[in-house]
Amino acid sequence: MPGDLRWKLAGLAAAAALLPVVPGRVDDVAHVLVEIVCVALAWRRLVPRRDLLRRGWGVALVAVTMLCVADAAAVAERSMLLGTSFPRPSDLVALAACLVLSAGVFVVGRQRAGLESGNGVIESVVLGLGSLAPALSFLILPRLTEPGRTAAGSVVLGGFAVAVVLLVSVVARFALIDHRGCVSLRLFAGGLLLWCAAEFAESAASGTVSTIGASVWLIGLVLVTAGLCHSSLRELTYGAGLQSLHVVPSRQVWLLGLGSLMPVVSLGLAWALGRPTWLPEIAVLGVLVSGLVWFRFTQLMTHIAEQSDLLSDLARSDELTGLPNRRSWNHEVSRAVVLAQTSGTPLCVALLDLDHFKTFNDTQGHPAGDRLLREVSASWSALLRDGEVLARYGGEEFAMALPGLGLDEALERVDEIRRAVVLPQTASAGVAAWVPGTDPAVTLKDADGALYLAKRSGRNMTLPAEPSTDSTPGPLRDLSTVMQPIVRVSDLEIVAFESLSRFPHTASVEATFLDAHDKGYGDLLEAIALRRAVEEPARPRGVHVFVNVSERAMRSDRFWDALPEDLTGAVIELSEVRDGLATTELREYLDRFRAKGARIGLDDVGTLSADFARIVALRPDIAKIDRSLVTRCDLDRAQAEVLRMLVGFAHSHDVAVCVEGVETAGELEVIRSLDVGYAQGYLLGRPGPGWPGGRDRVERRGEVSSAGRHAAV
Ligand code: GH3
Ligand code: MG
Ligand code: MG
Repeated sequence: MPGDLRWKLAGLAAAAALLPVVPGRVDDVAHVLVEIVCVALAWRRLVPRRDLLRRGWGVALVAVTMLCVADAAAVAERSMLLGTSFPRPSDLVALAACLVLSAGVFVVGRQRAGLESGNGVIESVVLGLGSLAPALSFLILPRLTEPGRTAAGSVVLGGFAVAVVLLVSVVARFALIDHRGCVSLRLFAGGLLLWCAAEFAESAASGTVSTIGASVWLIGLVLVTAGLCHSSLRELTYGAGLQSLHVVPSRQVWLLGLGSLMPVVSLGLAWALGRPTWLPEIAVLGVLVSGLVWFRFTQLMTHIAEQSDLLSDLARSDELTGLPNRRSWNHEVSRAVVLAQTSGTPLCVALLDLDHFKTFNDTQGHPAGDRLLREVSASWSALLRDGEVLARYGGEEFAMALPGLGLDEALERVDEIRRAVVLPQTASAGVAAWVPGTDPAVTLKDADGALYLAKRSGRNMTLPAEPSTDSTPGPLRDLSTVMQPIVRVSDLEIVAFESLSRFPHTASVEATFLDAHDKGYGDLLEAIALRRAVEEPARPRGVHVFVNVSERAMRSDRFWDALPEDLTGAVIELSEVRDGLATTELREYLDRFRAKGARIGLDDVGTLSADFARIVALRPDIAKIDRSLVTRCDLDRAQAEVLRMLVGFAHSHDVAVCVEGVETAGELEVIRSLDVGYAQGYLLGRPGPGWPGGRDRVERRGEVSSAGRHAAV
């Protein structure tokens, strides 16, 4: 805004502010003068800016002029003592001005980027209807019910009600967009607020215009004029930058909240001021506003749900071809593996790759390449059967999962699909069979090897992968299990077995597991060990099987995916080695095991001072006391005492006890005297291959006396 204009506006505001102290009739003259100057300044500034005039500001300018004419007419009517009958000519002009102003702001909004889409209309209408509540109870309804109200007066008052809703609604829509401190908008907002304040002040003074009210009205006019003259009017009209293109969600909520509160606040205010509350009218308005808010929230929620569906679709599918993308492929293939594993059916994966696609791109152009990729994807996916998955794995490389097919059938099927490429383009493919228990990524690597071979052998063919020998990690392939009996101390009957993993080429089972975890397949190795132990068909009914599971495995989704649904009869043994899981987190994992029917055992109890805390925090079903406390317990009184304390502590927390490493009759005697429920060790049974048939009693020497307190594991 030019400097001299700024000074003029400041002068006008000062004149308006001084109005109440001007004596006699001079104030009316000053009042009208301020209005004339304001209107003249606004016209002078806006007329040269034709584009703004055309975008709605011309209409708004006419409306402001009409408002000033109406106000000046009201001043004249008062000074000529033309009576107080309603409506006076000035009221009619004021009403028309309000409607025209709404129309002008509406036109600006229609063309304003970000508002043209109709976004935010309901929020604005909610605020408009909400504002009607105070307008009705303080301005309109009291006058409507005055004695002697004419029909024309009622119509004009109804018109004002409509004008309030329209004007507030169209102005509120601008508040929804991020204008980043647009000065024009602030000036307009300030001006409109002052006009509202002046109206309410007039109403509070029962219709008599005080000079303070008039002064407030004039300062409002100066602010509106400044808004029209300010250079940021252009920014308000066209928007500035991308940030002002979108409705700000938090403001939507603000408008909805504010609009729905206004009827209640207005009721409260009327009640507090001792005015008539107009309860039925305001209540109906409140219900209408709440209905609109409810409708808008339903719309927004549906919109959010649709958007989130769309986003997850976009995250899962490839933009060019619409096929599942690589991330989706990883998910699908994991699912296929779990299904194959549980149902014991075969699964093959394949990689298909377009031949000499680079040359195609180079000669025909990239857009033609894109088109070809789309056409090939469409013709391949049209051939897919139930359960088969085709994904875009990379540039011109596609991955396929073929559940239920052995390698020979899969070869035929993939070749059929490969040939359906859009001619004369050709493609090559490699197929590999998934080996149960292995990482599907390894199978895909095998398929890639076969694809490479197909390319080297002249392309346009499908080849199978050699059954891989070295790509499957040795421990996954070679894992075997042995079973060591666990007996009930009271009668030495075998009630459970501990399943122990063995690997042919190493004595250190623990090191093999650690190494497997370091190489990224430890989770699979543990899942396979657990499955083998639990699903062994020869396991006698009612006999439990104890299996070790590490925290590291529990953290892996792949581990859980690979587990059977039902783990009834399994006791998950948790070793003392912690791997950074918080106790609450660990408890959640233990609950997942429990939900599958498994029980929880703590391994190696007695080796850590924290064992008491572990028993309390994890609430296992059984605590297994480490062999280091058992060996020679018959010869060392202090050790036997520690054992007694530990067993007593576990029992007092309703945790059954099993001791490990019982090797002599003397040790067994101490164990028995301590009332321990279960025991294992070389004396009671060595680890052996497979399941001994049926329940068995360990034929060991030693008398059987008192029954274990916690007979049921
Ligand atoms: P080969 O027969 O050995 O597979 O040879 P090739 O040319 O098909 O394979 P190469 O890997 O050398 O080239 C692949 C080409 O695929 C290079 C790249 O420009 C193109 N490509 C990858 N993604 C897209 C894509 O989205 N659109 C298009 N038009 N081309 C792509
Ligand atoms: Mg290629
Ligand atoms: Mg390629």
